[in-house]
Amino acid sequence: MATLAEWKAQRPTWCPGCGDFAVLASLQRALVAVGAEPRATVIVGGIGCSGKIAGYIGCYGFHGLHGRALPVATGVKLANRKLTVVASGGDGDGYGIGLGHFLHTVRRNPDLTYIVMDNHIYGLTKGQASPTTDPTPQGTGERPVHPLTLALASGGTFVAQAFSGNVNHMTEVIERGLRHPGFALINVFSPCVTYNKVNTYEFYRDHLSYLGDDYTPEHRDRAIATVARYNDLVCGVLYEETGAEPLERRLLGEDVSAAIAEQDLAAARGWEKILTRYA
Ligand code: SF4
Repeated sequence: MATLAEWKAQRPTWCPGCGDFAVLASLQRALVAVGAEPRATVIVGGIGCSGKIAGYIGCYGFHGLHGRALPVATGVKLANRKLTVVASGGDGDGYGIGLGHFLHTVRRNPDLTYIVMDNHIYGLTKGQASPTTDPTPQGTGERPVHPLTLALASGGTFVAQAFSGNVNHMTEVIERGLRHPGFALINVFSPCVTYNKVNTYEFYRDHLSYLGDDYTPEHRDRAIATVARYNDLVCGVLYEETGAEPLERRLLGEDVSAAIAEQDLAAARGWEKILTRYA
């Protein structure tokens, strides 16, 4: 089994104190906890500070186009179902330009873990309002999107939230997401210490609530009501549906070897002829 040291890669270039460091550490710990192997794991990153995480973990990585992490990750999973596939990005990436992909991936339910580092801002481009930014007197005046409610209303089979100021709790949530056999959304409040002076570590410590041991995540209506009651500021696994068929099993059946990565495409599709034509 791979050790924590084997999941480390190049040193992140995030600003000191950025919440994304905690997400990276939690994901690495959770991958160790579920027994994932680096040679059988792929991280697909979106665009933004958070998307760079794909280069900071010691496994295969793909840094995709803005808002397109989920279709790429879905393709990776369909091509090789033996892989552990994680997609990650920010709120601007996933809930802005990527919102259409987000909703359709939720309802398709591929076996992916999607970690959104939600800092309520576009950090990489120096602090513009993002889809989750709360309205301010001199801001956009637009109301924020509510990713947990959207995912729950769209048939999401695993919907959770965590906070970068609580690494142990986040590690547990990510571990549960990795074990979930379907699409797992984990929205993480991950403060941007450089550009967001509102949604800070202190703000979340003062305002966040955590689901108690008596909360059972089996009821979609209850999860939606809980998110609304706490005005989104609640952490834990809000909803998990067991037994829902993941996309790849629906499309390809039970036979894992039916994946594209297991097939002789050259023989099946005449790729040599095509390659000769463009050589
Ligand atoms: Fe993190 Fe913000 Fe710095 Fe980006 S700009 S690395 S989100 S603190």
